[in-house]
Amino acid sequence: MNKDDIKRVAKLIKNSSKTMVLTGAGISTESGIPDFRTPNTGLWEKVDPMEALSTSVLYNNPKKFYNEGFKMLLGMTEAEPNRAHFALAEMERLGYIKGVITQNIDNLHYRAGSKYILEVHGNTREGSCMECGNKVELEVLTDKVNNGEIPPKCDNCGGILRPDVVFFGDMLPEDFEISLHEVETSDLLIVIGSSLTVSPVNYLPQVAKEFVIINVGPTAMDSFAEVKIEESAGKTLEAILDELEKE
Ligand code: NAD
Repeated sequence: MNKDDIKRVAKLIKNSSKTMVLTGAGISTESGIPDFRTPNTGLWEKVDPMEALSTSVLYNNPKKFYNEGFKMLLGMTEAEPNRAHFALAEMERLGYIKGVITQNIDNLHYRAGSKYILEVHGNTREGSCMECGNKVELEVLTDKVNNGEIPPKCDNCGGILRPDVVFFGDMLPEDFEISLHEVETSDLLIVIGSSLTVSPVNYLPQVAKEFVIINVGPTAMDSFAEVKIEESAGKTLEAILDELEKE
């Protein structure tokens, strides 16, 4: 690892009055959840998430959604946070970052102890009724599906329940607007484990005053970053945290 890069990032954080972090699937690969792009492990190669996790399948063929896409989501809920998630929770606790904007739906920032989390693609903790909007824990959906109730129905109105994940074809939640504001009013954005190919989240670095990227592999914004670190998120964030605490 290039120690100068670690020092430069720590200095940028120290000099910034407000820093936000943007994470993608790459921060969770060390927890065993494959991302969409790494060759031979990416989720794209096993199923097509654009179809399995789409509103068109959810609305038009909910049985197919619950037999296929839903199972992909449940796989994520079994993973544990890794040292990258814990390092970010610690940086927030110590006041080095304000919070995390995540494209991930795996709940791992939440479980690692981060407090201010903007989940721009939703989460796999809750679900809601597509008719009346009634909110339930995701386990309610899981229990119903395991008991053969496919698709699972709302106890209040009989409508179909869905996970609170943003699917291809869905509008983005309010968290995206808040994220835009947070980044625009920050001095620094740290992008971690994202190829920055998913729109409109990949717009966030463009509104940042300065940004750094920690990502194995190229991203669309590498040439505009103050610093680009091509190392795994876990060891890089631990090294940055050590450096911040040293000075
Ligand atoms: P992406 O798959 O497009 O890019 C991930 C990037 O992280 C890749 O460039 C990869 O090389 C890099 N990477 C992999 N392991 C890394 C590591 N240990 N350290 C640093 N970098 C690493 O991910 P994206 O930009 O988040 O876009 C994918 C979309 O898929 C998002 O919308 C997200 O919602 C969804 N998704 C979420 C999860 C999850 O919740 N964990 C998993 C897969 C996909």
